[in-house]
Amino acid sequence: MRQVLSVTSECAPLVKTGGLADVAGALPGAMEGEGWHLRTLLPAYPAVLEKTGKGKIAHKWNDLFGHPATLRKVAYNGLDLLLLDAPHFYNRPGNIYLGPDGKDWPDNPERFAALSWAAAEIATGIVPDWRPDLLHCHDWQAALAPQYLRQAGQNCPSLMTIHNIAFHGLAPAERLGALKLPSEHFTSEGFEFWSYISALKAGLVSATALSTVSPTYAEELTSPEFGMGLEGVIASRKGDLSGILNGIDLTVWSPKTDPNIAPFTGPGGKARNKKKLRQAFGLPEADGPLTVVVSRLTEQKGLDLLLAALPTLLAEGGQLALLGSGDPGLEYAFRQASEAPDIAVKIGYDEPLSHLMFAGGDAVLVPSRFEPCGLTQLYALRYGAIPVVARTGGLADTVIDANNAAIRAGVATGITFSPTTAEALETAIRRLCGFYRAPDLWTKLQKRTMQHPVGWDASAREYAALYSRITG
Ligand code: ADP
Repeated sequence: MRQVLSVTSECAPLVKTGGLADVAGALPGAMEGEGWHLRTLLPAYPAVLEKTGKGKIAHKWNDLFGHPATLRKVAYNGLDLLLLDAPHFYNRPGNIYLGPDGKDWPDNPERFAALSWAAAEIATGIVPDWRPDLLHCHDWQAALAPQYLRQAGQNCPSLMTIHNIAFHGLAPAERLGALKLPSEHFTSEGFEFWSYISALKAGLVSATALSTVSPTYAEELTSPEFGMGLEGVIASRKGDLSGILNGIDLTVWSPKTDPNIAPFTGPGGKARNKKKLRQAFGLPEADGPLTVVVSRLTEQKGLDLLLAALPTLLAEGGQLALLGSGDPGLEYAFRQASEAPDIAVKIGYDEPLSHLMFAGGDAVLVPSRFEPCGLTQLYALRYGAIPVVARTGGLADTVIDANNAAIRAGVATGITFSPTTAEALETAIRRLCGFYRAPDLWTKLQKRTMQHPVGWDASAREYAALYSRITG
C-alpha cells in the first residue's frame, strides 16, 4: 500500500467549518480501495483531543515556532491521524480560525505555518517507521509545506488542492522571518502577492501538481473573474492542474440509515421528514414546495439574491427553511425576513438538523456566485430534494438541468440558472414551483435525483491515477 500524508486544518467528524472537513474526512476511506493509505495531519484542537484521546507520541519538538510541540498518533473512526499538539497555537476555545471578536486570530499565518512545517518534516521521515510517498496539501493552511520542502532541498512529491481560492493565507512581509521563509523566494515568481506573503501562492508555485474540486472550477480559476488575483499563476501551471469532483460519504449520508431522520428509500418516504422539518422550524402546511438552505452566510453563497427573490417564492406558495451563520448583515436580514409565516430561519451551526433539512426539504437552493464544488447539492440529490443551483463551478458539474430534452431523456436532476442574479433565481424558483404542481413529473425528478451517483468511486479512481502520475 502506498502512503500519503494528507495535511488539513479541519477533518470531519472531528472538527468542521465547511466542505473541506467533509472531504478530508472521507478521502482516506475512499482511497484505501485504490491502494493508497492516507494518514491525516491535523492540529490537535481541544475538541479533537477530547474525542480522540492523546494517543502515542510520534515526535517531539523543543521549539516549533517558539514553543514545544508534540506529534500524536491516534486512530479515530477509521481515520489514521497525526495530531499536531502545539498548545500555544491550537489550545483556544471556539471557532478554529476566529477569535472571540469574530476576526481571524492575528497569528493564523504562524498557526498554520507550523502545521505545514510539521508536514514537511514528516515528509522527510521524522516519524519512526513511516514516510509518505506523497504529500497532499489542502488549501492555504497546508500550502507552505511544499515551499518548506523546497527551501530545505528535500524532495517529496506534493499535490496542492484548492478547495476555495478566496482564502490566500496572507501575511505582511515583516513576518518572513517569523514564518521561516527565505527572502529570495519573496518574488512574483515565488510566494509574493502584492507585497504580501501568500501561503496559497507558495503552494501553487512549489507543489508538484495542483488540483481543485471540480472540472468547471479548474477552468474558471484561470480567469480574472474567479482566480482572485492568482489566475496568472494558475494559468501558467494549467498543464499540472486537474479538476476532480468531491464525493460524499455514503455511509454518513444515507437516507436508509441516517439516525437524524425518519429513514426512507424512495420519494414517498420524504413526507414524514417534511413533517418533522416543519415542526422543527415552526412552519405551517403550504401548497408550494418547502425549500431549504444550509450554508455559511457569505457574499460567495449569493444569499442576498435569495432575499431579493423571496417575494417570488412566497407568491408561488413556497416556503423557506434556512440554517446558517456568518455575515451579521445577512443574519439580520434573514431574521427580519422570517417575520413572514412561510419563512423560518435558524442562525447557527447544527449538523443533525442539516440532515433533517435535506431529508424533509422538497428543494435545496444554492445561488452561489462561485462554488468550487459544493456539497449541499450532493446531499440534496442523495435525499431526493431537488437542487436549484447557479450554473457555476462544481454546481454546474453535478446538477443536470430539467430542460425538456433532459426530462425526455430521463437524466434531469435539478434546476440550474445563469447568470447568478436575483432575476435568474426568480425564474428558477418559478420553474421549481411549476414542476411541483405536476406531481408525476415531480416524483420522476425526485427518483432520478436519488439515483444520481454522488459517492467517491469515480473521483477516488481519478485521485489514484493522479497520485500515481505525480509519484511516478
Ligand atoms: P463551503 O465549504 O464553501 O462552506 P460546501 O457546500 O462545500 O460549502 O460545504 C459546506 C458544508 O458545511 C456542508 O457539509 C454543509 O452541510 C455544512 N454546513 C454549512 N453551514 C452549516 C450549518 N449552519 N449547520 C450545519 N451544517 C452546515
